[in-house]
Amino acid sequence: MIIVLRPEAGADVANELLERIADKGLKPLHMPGAERVVLGALGDERALAELSLDSHPMVEAVKPILAPYKLVSRELHPHDTVVRVGPLAIGGRELAVIAGPCAVESREQMLASAQAAAAGGAKALRAGAYKPRTSPYGFSGHGPEGLRILREVGDEVGLPVITEVMDSADVAIVAEHADALQIGARNMQNFTLLRAVGRAGRPVLLKRGMSARLEEWLLAAEYLLAEGNDQVILCERGIRTFETATRNTLDLNAIPYIKQRTHLPVVVDPSHGTGVRDFVTPMALAAAACGADGLLVEVHNDPARALSDGAQSLYPDGFASLMRQLRPVAEAVGRPLA
Ligand code: PEP
Ligand code: MN
Repeated sequence: MIIVLRPEAGADVANELLERIADKGLKPLHMPGAERVVLGALGDERALAELSLDSHPMVEAVKPILAPYKLVSRELHPHDTVVRVGPLAIGGRELAVIAGPCAVESREQMLASAQAAAAGGAKALRAGAYKPRTSPYGFSGHGPEGLRILREVGDEVGLPVITEVMDSADVAIVAEHADALQIGARNMQNFTLLRAVGRAGRPVLLKRGMSARLEEWLLAAEYLLAEGNDQVILCERGIRTFETATRNTLDLNAIPYIKQRTHLPVVVDPSHGTGVRDFVTPMALAAAACGADGLLVEVHNDPARALSDGAQSLYPDGFASLMRQLRPVAEAVGRPLA
């Protein structure tokens, strides 16, 4: 439930009501706004009815939260959440570009790819040390050694780093090395992993599952927020449809929908969304135009030799060209590049 207090209600009223909500076994939420204080109560709403809050003289309105996801919903939290990954703010006015190779392959490859990302103007570096691969014979990443390389290279080029965690058992070591944790499409509904990552004390980049409906994706984000972590970035990376001409179908409808339903920022991954190098830049521009808060783009120093996702990885000059084309599009929709 959402409890909107009257403008004249003081902190004492808010505290008294929060206590009464907690005494009923519900989770109390306190959201002071510019004009009014809004309180939330999550849990069994029958318990709340016993408090008769609508007859309290300082309560203006009591409304149900209609969405099945509560903490993620804009109903409860109307203002945009800005997620900070190191010095980079995602979800504010500026468009944030995150780039890097699919996988950490070697120190040399990682450094050259990171230099290309930084030179093009990316503001965060993303690469996988743990790779989910369809085939058990594919390169599955260097694990802890990959994390060390990624951290070192990020520090060397001066960019915060984001990397995927696939298993609850690895959350601590990944959180120790990375500025933000990625949950991949294949793990979007790994609820044990979601809960563990929600408690890791790091921002999270949550990819949409390849067959996930938008509501399921937002409920997956709710798991993270329910563990006390509101630093969550959603990432649209394309879905499976009947179309096989491209690796996935990049669902840009999701962007305005997500912006309407949740306060969390959303970024678009046109690399996995298309799977085709030549389509990455046009779809990156489209993503910026339709309101994405940022982009996640795969860039490799030598895509022809990449151990994963070479066909969709931009060459360094391709990434520089994407960034040059992106700037005027982003500015046209009021989003200067970060
Ligand atoms: C990736 O980001 O390299 C990746 C494995 O992506 P996804 O989980 O979206 O397939
Ligand atoms: Mn990849």
